Formats: sequence, C-alpha cells, structure tokens
Amino acid sequence: MAFHLLRGDAPLLVSMPHVGTTLPEGLEARLAPPARALPDTDWLLVELYDFLPELGVTRLHAEHPRQLIDLNRPPDDAPLYATTTTGLIPAELFDGVPAWQPGEQPDAAEQAVLLDRYWRPYHDALSQERARLRERHGEMLLLDLHSIRSEVPRLFEGVLPDFNLGTNRGHASPPSLARALEEALVEGPYTQVTDGRFRGGYITRRYGEPAKGLHALQLELSQATYMDEAALAPRIEDGRAAQVRPWLRAVGETARRGEAARTRGAM
Ligand SMILES: [Zn+2]
Repeated sequence: MAFHLLRGDAPLLVSMPHVGTTLPEGLEARLAPPARALPDTDWLLVELYDFLPELGVTRLHAEHPRQLIDLNRPPDDAPLYATTTTGLIPAELFDGVPAWQPGEQPDAAEQAVLLDRYWRPYHDALSQERARLRERHGEMLLLDLHSIRSEVPRLFEGVLPDFNLGTNRGHASPPSLARALEEALVEGPYTQVTDGRFRGGYITRRYGEPAKGLHALQLELSQATYMDEAALAPRIEDGRAAQVRPWLRAVGETARRGEAARTRGAM
C-alpha cells in the first residue's frame, strides 16, 4: 500500500507526504550509503500529531520515503523554487551529496513506473477525499504537514523559523486563514513566518483553489521544536513535544473551524 488513510468527517484533510520510511525490496542497495538512513524524512509526524483523530480530521500519510519518489513534486518534475531544491526522484540529499550509487538512479522508464505505483495512488486519494469533504461541507481545507531540520545551509540561510506557514502567497488559501493561524500561534514561544522560504510545495499549489471552496495550506515545522536534532537516531524528545503539541493542536482546531469559509465573503 502506497499510503495510509484515516477518514473523518470534519472539513479538514491532513496530508503527510514525507513521513514514509519503507523502501521497496532491492531499493536500499541502490541508494548511496548516506541516503539509506533517509535523513531528509519528515520524522515522526504521525506520532507528533497524535491528537488529529480526536479532531475528526481525515489523515493521509505516505508509506514510502521521498527518496523513492517525492509526492510533493509535480509529475513532470518542473522546478518549484528558484532556489536550490530537490526533484521528483531526488538525485541528491538536502546537503548535496549524491543519493544513489553510480548508475543506479531510476531512469525515465523506471520513473514512469514509480509514478504509477506510488505517486498517483496518493494523489488519487487526496483528490477523492477533498471532493468528499467539500461535497459534505461546501468548503474544506487541505493542511499539508511537513518538518525539516532547523539548519540546512544548502536550502536556506541561518536557522529556520519554528512554524513556516505556506499559502502560495494567498493563491492556495485566503490571507484571512493564515492570519487566524498566526494569531493562534502568537502567544506561544515559537517564531513563525508566512510565505517565507517555504510558501507551499506542489500539493499546496495544486490543491488550493479558494474560488472553488478548496483551500490548502502548508505547515513546515522546524524539527528543533520536537526532536534532539543531534541525536543519532530520530526520536521525539518528550519535553519539547509536550511544549509544542498544544500549539499544533491550536493550528489544527483553528483550521478545522473553517476560518476560510467564514471569512471568504470578506476576500
Ligand atoms: Zn516535507
């Protein structure tokens, strides 16, 4: 199975495209040794957001890693950012080292197979669930959840803000929604930015159609908020997670309340 789906009836669909760590048979040996640990994974988001089922949201998350095929890139692999980025089947890790053993990166024919086998099923499920929720509620929000190391010099300068909201500059969801989320976070101890370095990847841009009542927003969370980034094995650091979870929950509850729907008339 390329993904896991938990259905709820709230007008909120959560997507986690980069949490998967299962490599299909035979793939691991083709990856360069530094890539086998899957260092660019959005670690442990299902566990961190363990409260989502209580909110009645629908949650879709990937079984396989972005190293195999990146579900947050367009199928034609057109670049999403003017700055350095990684592609549909990443040739390099975030830090720039080759991801594949020499000659082992999937070619165009294999890429087509991977698209059919892993990429399309995830996007078909996203499309179906967002249609179901809009049918039920008139409007819905897709929240695309990510996390990344707080410092990746090749991808961004300095230390990333803790919460990075992305609306594709208001094209994927109305500014009133981002404002409501900013307000929900402002009392907390975390830094935040909207449409900074991470203004939304392919999923946010593709599925955000506010004029049709289909909203999308990306949250890229700094891993420093819930992990000890220097630890050898990725694991949730309980103290940090206990501090950040109420703020993540505030984001989920604000998103679920449908700020977008209520303020749409003001747009
Ligand atoms: Zn991600």
